[in-house]
Amino acid sequence: MPSAPPSGPRYYPLSRFWRDRFGTKVYRVTIDAGFTCPNVDGTVAVGGCIYCDNRSFSPNRRLPRMGIREQVERGIGILRQRYGADRFIAYFQAATNTYAPVPKLRSLYDQALTHPDVIGLAVATRPDCVPDPILELLESYARRWYVLLELGLQTIHDRSLDWMNRGHHYDAFVDAVQRCQGRGLDLCAHVILGLPGESHADMMATADALAGLPVHGVKIHNLHVVKDTPLEALFHAGQVPMLERDEYVALVCDFLERLPAGMVIHRLSGDAPPEYLVAPLWCLDKPGLLRAIDAELERRGSYQGIRVRSGAACR
Ligand code: SF4
Repeated sequence: MPSAPPSGPRYYPLSRFWRDRFGTKVYRVTIDAGFTCPNVDGTVAVGGCIYCDNRSFSPNRRLPRMGIREQVERGIGILRQRYGADRFIAYFQAATNTYAPVPKLRSLYDQALTHPDVIGLAVATRPDCVPDPILELLESYARRWYVLLELGLQTIHDRSLDWMNRGHHYDAFVDAVQRCQGRGLDLCAHVILGLPGESHADMMATADALAGLPVHGVKIHNLHVVKDTPLEALFHAGQVPMLERDEYVALVCDFLERLPAGMVIHRLSGDAPPEYLVAPLWCLDKPGLLRAIDAELERRGSYQGIRVRSGAACR
């Protein structure tokens, strides 16, 4: 990627990465395989992360669950009709998608990969839920397909991870990233900006830490409130302020400036379906938000990577 693209986004979006990599547009087909989460069922904690409502994470979770192959067929049919798409990544999205014994995971992933137009897997999970046998399974797929592993980082600050009841600390993320190396997996970290108690310097420290790790991509979310979550009660009690849109735009730009130019930006906002989102409502206008981020980077004459510290893991 050029360091300062003359046109288009001043950061490296996922759509461009997939076009660079596969020579065509690629779309994700979301799959709900019925996983739960060790942070919900009591293995790590109960109640889950305070912002978590899995209904809001996956369109499929709000529908009666179908078989994996059926979900793939259905998703591909919709994307073909809507976008003329012809290449797809099977995206195991809802809950913790490595939370099962290896034979069960193999069976689930295999079902998705049998479709001839599916060219890879994306698996979203927790950093404390990828023991080596599961990484070996993913590595075996990576010899033949593209494999993206999404790991929830959220922040490098343990006090914030405790506040949100993540049930793990930053060292679990670093450990998972290290054990993933050499396996042919693309890693994507999930990050949240606007956590209460985090200063600008705290958030930028997360960016700098991420820039120094061998992570291929990042999903950046603004903290947002979804109905029927513990966070909703805290929000209504006035204990958790939400960022204003302009504050978030400035923070995202500051964050992007610190990431290596080759780190793929999977997303730049958090959102939920309108029927589930409580606040902030500005994140429902995603195109407007992306335009504002582009405009702010342009106003600054800035771009992703302009403030990467030396030694960052550019790929
Ligand atoms: S780890 Fe993911 S699925 Fe589990 S409670 Fe947290 S946000 Fe929800």
